[in-house]
Amino acid sequence: MRHYPAFMDIIGRKALVIGQGESADRKAQALRRAGAEVNISPTFKPSLLDGCAIAIGAEAPDEDLQALSRTAIERGIPVNIVDRPELCSFITPAIVDRSPLTIAISSGGAAPVLARLLRAKIEALVSPNYARLATLAEQFKDKVRAAFPDMAIRRRALETLLTGPAADLALSGQENEAGKLFEAAINQPDTISRKGIVYLVGAGPGAPDLLTLRAQRLLGEADVIVHDRLVTDEILDMGRRDAGRIFVGKARANHCMRQEDINALLVRLGQEGKRVVRLKGGDPLIFGRGGEEAEALAEAGIPFEIVPGITAALGCAAGSNIPLTHREAARAVTFITGHTRDGTLEMDFHGAVQLGGTLAVYMGIVTLPRLRDGLLAAGLPADTPSALIERGGTEAQRTLFGTLDHLVATAPDWSEGGPALVLVGQAVGRAVPDHRD
Ligand code: SAH
Repeated sequence: MRHYPAFMDIIGRKALVIGQGESADRKAQALRRAGAEVNISPTFKPSLLDGCAIAIGAEAPDEDLQALSRTAIERGIPVNIVDRPELCSFITPAIVDRSPLTIAISSGGAAPVLARLLRAKIEALVSPNYARLATLAEQFKDKVRAAFPDMAIRRRALETLLTGPAADLALSGQENEAGKLFEAAINQPDTISRKGIVYLVGAGPGAPDLLTLRAQRLLGEADVIVHDRLVTDEILDMGRRDAGRIFVGKARANHCMRQEDINALLVRLGQEGKRVVRLKGGDPLIFGRGGEEAEALAEAGIPFEIVPGITAALGCAAGSNIPLTHREAARAVTFITGHTRDGTLEMDFHGAVQLGGTLAVYMGIVTLPRLRDGLLAAGLPADTPSALIERGGTEAQRTLFGTLDHLVATAPDWSEGGPALVLVGQAVGRAVPDHRD
């Protein structure tokens, strides 16, 4: 580590800025925001440093900047000269301001642009509402200390408050409601550390950067991650290293764990006081049985929350430039499954064809021939544009365009066995070329 990181308290202290121009003004402004009494002067003379806690130089004649640096260092006053690392006794980091929370990033002068790029990432990751959460924590600081005198227990309680439902409320802007949960925890200190929560989280189609920011945050906070086959390793790696990971399987016709057992597992983990993330491919409420898990949790009195994800149809369509709706070609999208428990296909083909628009058929690859037969018999024109999309929304996505007849004939050899979705409808013919393979 090239520099020692620290945050300075300069409320009511004198600060000196030498220079004239935008950069000097910005520095003066930042010092004022931190509560300093700022004296700004275009040129330097040593007496200006009297009583100063900090000094910054920018856009002043070189001899002034040199003299400022030399004198300040001699007198033990921290000094920074903008863009002149050799004249500085401290450097200023790139910051993400979520006051009272401040995140500072420095590359020690090695790669300031990299530090700024990183800052942009953190800006996106740490919602502005963290400021509200930090303010809330500050408001309750003394009460929390009184309610949880033991430090270890206090830390655990705060972790729960700052990551649990109270935090979710504060982060979505509902400070008053969040404050009530803080109050409740303080009034009943012994309930707080025992209550678990289960998040039913959509992991999207597979690419880690198609997770929502909320899903990513919850993953990083989970004690246990319960996942199935569709969730990729890259996404699982985003969890804490010490978090438990439980695979509950479910490949077609190869159910690792029965749904009832998964429900019971989630309930048990919740009762143990764990923060559980139940990760499901795509969206938890679309052919994901998230509804059943939510029911089981509600019945057992375990708090839960559902976090949406990008469902396969959306990932596949975007990845193959297919407009799911189109002003001229499709006014509806139907998410439909081609699979039933015993492997047969049960579908209201007439209804589907009559509604028109785009059909997104999940779990349809095994039943593809019967899907084709049923749709054509119900009046779907045989030349209707269709696409079979494997591993949609990931880097390994592959797309096969053609009529349903063509897909049926080609799919067995073409498929590499990844999850695949069938899109059918005139809008598929409006795919914007570039990815056709
Ligand atoms: N809840 C999931 C769907 C689960 S059902 C979602 O919202 O996407 C499983 C089916 O989803 C698979 O058989 C396949 O048809 C489809 N599927 C899931 N991920 C996919 C992907 N990356 N590419 C194509 N199809 C996918």
